[in-house]
Amino acid sequence: MDKNSLLIVGAGFGGATLARIFAENNQKVIVIDKRNHIGGNSYDYLNENNERIHKYGPHLLHGDADSKAIKFLSRFTEWTKYEHKVRALLSDMSTTSLPINRNTLEHIFKISLNSDLETKNFLDSIREKSIVPRNTDELFLSSVGEKLANIFFRPYTQKMWGIDPKELDVQIGARLPVRTNRDERYFTDNFQFLPKNGYFSLFEKMLDHKNIQVNLNTEFSKSMEKHYKHNFLCLPIDQYFDYCFGELPYRSLIFENKLMINDNLSASQVNFTDNSPYTRMTQWDLLPNCQSKNKFQHTLTYERPVDISKNPGEYYYPVQTQKSRRIFQKYEKLSKNFDHITFCGRTGLFKYIDMVPAVSIHLQKAYNFLKKIN
Ligand SMILES: Cc1cc2nc3c(=O)[nH]c(=O)nc-3n(C[C@H](O)[C@H](O)[C@H](O)COP(=O)(O)OP(=O)(O)OC[C@H]3O[C@@H](n4cnc5c(N)ncnc54)[C@H](O)[C@@H]3O)c2cc1C
Repeated sequence: MDKNSLLIVGAGFGGATLARIFAENNQKVIVIDKRNHIGGNSYDYLNENNERIHKYGPHLLHGDADSKAIKFLSRFTEWTKYEHKVRALLSDMSTTSLPINRNTLEHIFKISLNSDLETKNFLDSIREKSIVPRNTDELFLSSVGEKLANIFFRPYTQKMWGIDPKELDVQIGARLPVRTNRDERYFTDNFQFLPKNGYFSLFEKMLDHKNIQVNLNTEFSKSMEKHYKHNFLCLPIDQYFDYCFGELPYRSLIFENKLMINDNLSASQVNFTDNSPYTRMTQWDLLPNCQSKNKFQHTLTYERPVDISKNPGEYYYPVQTQKSRRIFQKYEKLSKNFDHITFCGRTGLFKYIDMVPAVSIHLQKAYNFLKKIN
């Protein structure tokens, strides 16, 4: 430790991006993480079957090919093209395409739709056009109507977030597009790739710099702060301030890996639309950068959402409600009085952030800081 170094807590995309930019700008950096690996929630590994497993659920990288974030990441990995597709398991055990698109509508309503316009008109006839959505449930009704909300969104959202969709901010549902064409890809970005040798390898290269020291199995404590020029904290902001304004709500997930001897799933990810405890299952060897291609044995990971109290320390999804937003704003305001710390990452910013935006945000944070000190 020395007063000329920067401390970064968290070796996920937020912390690793900061670390690399600082290191390349002649700053000495110490990165600590309480886990025994780098990569944060994007960490992956090869299991005994030689399948590449994303330890904290499937991570699909997507974004704008011309963005600074993707150009930055491309310095540390080669890419394998992969356009993610998701199927939803229905009550008759058939699967259908998600996000909802023309093929989904034809399957559910047993009709045939011959153009975008015909599909749009059909959607208009089933959705509740007069609603101006103020919450996620109203968003479902206004974009797809009662029947599709009941099949695809209400039970899934309830188990995912543990609260009624009526209480969820409209932004949560706004992440689910509805398409009038037959595009079955989950994302439409012009860059959809996986790191050829996995995320762990990408992180190893990103953090491999003479000015970066990584200390794993190291929990942050406030007594560390005084030893560093500045502290970047990718940790829960409410925890740092001893929950003085109350606890910020998070959803966590329990991952259950099962070795199955069966046929391939209809897609690498299949969502459960019913009231069962699971939200989705992933078949890893359907991802193109999975090492193993064993025809008969596949690891499937089932995800079961739980309250954070059932999986302590595993903060996955910030639950955005009006109440939690107000609490966060109080913490954010308080943090402005602390010149020597900057909150970062999903839990410091209390915001769900995908990987590419996480890199963009932290590139910007790094350059802002360098400008300030130079
Ligand atoms: C289940 C799930 C699926 C996802 N799928 C996708 C996807 O498909 N595509 C996509 O783009 N994004 C996805 N994401 C988002 C992606 O994981 C985030 O964008 C990325 O993790 C952001 O990185 P971060 O640095 O903010 O946080 P994290 O990756 O969570 O890293 C924070 C790190 O800080 C460490 N830490 C926290 N507190 C302390 C402490 N007190 N002391 C020491 N260390 C500490 C943690 O151990 C952790 O390693 C997904 C996220 C989850 C949870």
